Amino acid sequence: MDSAARRIPTLVVSGFLGSGKTTLVRALLAAAQARGERLAVVVNDFGSLGIDRALLGAGEARTVELAGGCVCCELSDELVDVLEEIRASARPDRIVIETSGLALPYETQLSLWRPPVSEWVGDDMAVVLVNAEQLAEGRDLGELFEQQVSAADLLVLNQIDRVEAEVLPALEERLRALEPEVPLVRAVQSRLDPRLLEPPDWARERRAAPPHAHAHAAYVAETLAIEPGVSADALVARLRALGAVRAKGFVETDAGTRLVQGVGRRVELSPAPEADPALLGRLVVIRPAAD
Ligand SMILES: [Zn+2]
Repeated sequence: MDSAARRIPTLVVSGFLGSGKTTLVRALLAAAQARGERLAVVVNDFGSLGIDRALLGAGEARTVELAGGCVCCELSDELVDVLEEIRASARPDRIVIETSGLALPYETQLSLWRPPVSEWVGDDMAVVLVNAEQLAEGRDLGELFEQQVSAADLLVLNQIDRVEAEVLPALEERLRALEPEVPLVRAVQSRLDPRLLEPPDWARERRAAPPHAHAHAAYVAETLAIEPGVSADALVARLRALGAVRAKGFVETDAGTRLVQGVGRRVELSPAPEADPALLGRLVVIRPAAD
């Protein structure tokens, strides 16, 4: 089994048709190609979303379509097979799974949490996109919508430019009523701070330029010093209090050295005997900037 450090981050992108999933996946592909990273994309129901095959086939990206059903239910075995095959043949740095508009992100993530995929997937996250205009009009909303929203690790109120700014707080309240705890961000055309969607990287945050005063300034990366002997509960409470969207680092807890990975409200602590002593006690956190 690969060490935790070599696990492959996997992002599940969900949301109704028209919520901006494909736009987000395109942006992730472009960013990966610009950074020279190998990104594999599994797209459920390729045809109906009208993805540009030529774009997806370019560079180091690798795309697989799973059609004729839903990856969260009928095609869950096929999803596992495809993920195993991608890992063996393409060795991607990262995997993105774009579900159909009707899929449940939690059910899709279940495939990632079971062997054999659970043995190599790392830092899995479900981002759920919500079309602000659809939400404002109450279109197509129902139990499925509620299930998608409440399963998110990160909620994105997207296409906020298509509604009056005054209604945004009410829209956020409606999402909060369904899911009070998960980080909620606003976006236009699926433009998100990429740090919200990937595991924090200690080296990268140190190199990064200071945040600038436009779209991305709503979130900041900081490194917390964590005292040895902290309990898991205390650590989780501290991250929640900060509103941390992402967290990653090695911590000396009261139960031993742990790799801490926080995605939305989920914080996982796994044994990390191979932790680099130079990184121990440092937790990189992505959190909302203070107003
Ligand atoms: Zn399904």
